[in-house]
Amino acid sequence: MKLTNPNELKNILSAYGFTFSKGLGQNFLVDKNVLDKIVSGSGINGEWGALEIGPGAGTLTYELAKNSGKTVAVEIDRRLMPLLGYTLNEFKNTKIINADVMGIDLGALIKEEFADMPVAVCANLPYYITTPVIMKILEECKSVRTVTVMIQKEVADRMAASPGGKDYGALSVAVQFYTKPEIICRAEPHCFMPQPKVASTVIRLDVLKEPAVLVKNQKLFFDIVKSAFGQRRKTLLNSLTKSPYLDIEKERIIAAIENTGLAPDVRGERLSIEQFAALADFLA
Ligand code: SAM
Repeated sequence: MKLTNPNELKNILSAYGFTFSKGLGQNFLVDKNVLDKIVSGSGINGEWGALEIGPGAGTLTYELAKNSGKTVAVEIDRRLMPLLGYTLNEFKNTKIINADVMGIDLGALIKEEFADMPVAVCANLPYYITTPVIMKILEECKSVRTVTVMIQKEVADRMAASPGGKDYGALSVAVQFYTKPEIICRAEPHCFMPQPKVASTVIRLDVLKEPAVLVKNQKLFFDIVKSAFGQRRKTLLNSLTKSPYLDIEKERIIAAIENTGLAPDVRGERLSIEQFAALADFLA
């Protein structure tokens, strides 16, 4: 069975009477080269567990099952269950869970299914849940080592961006707080069935053993980051003073900016993650 062959995939889908749902972001991968890059990029081997979100027809799941010790995939669409039973029937180490990934306790699921195995999360993610699903994994799942995902190119660029550039924002800081991102490859619309309107990127997030910066108050750190990027044209001082997330006197903010060695009129987009941490610790 070769699910990256569009004709073969079409035949299987029609044999099961399956029609694509746009609302669930169902654009199935039909490019073997990109598929191989996701699997090799994730770092899995026979000792690792693989968690997939949204297996679709099982194209990526098949390769994960072949290359990992155990694969668990969470799929929201009940119509795909019989089809997945067929495409993955040769594997004993594979489990499909019919659920909405946003509604389950992923940390508990990983513990239960993988015990002490290192875990790689792999997915060709539906665009409508890209950011919440990635943040949920990074915040809740401590034994995850890598997250290798196909996402919209613009979102991948924002995750991997460095301070000062147009793509750098709260998402860059949040992702780089937990991981070291690396862009693996690009996937043009013709790599999918049906073809999406926009280009995609495969990005691997290497989860750090400790967050990139250790801060006294994590909530305050993220509130400062959100505030700093809330209105990009404002100076950092104005953004923090007028932020709906913070209640800190202007004088203390001025002192924190000075203490961090920043110019009084600096904009938030210039700050490194370490400088955000220094600001937050001064204000904690
Ligand atoms: N992995 C397959 C592939 O690469 O060909 C399918 C990828 S397709 C872009 C996204 C998949 O995620 C679909 O199968 C869709 O039904 C599923 N999905 C969408 N929303 C989901 C959710 N909230 N929880 C779990 N799966 C979801």
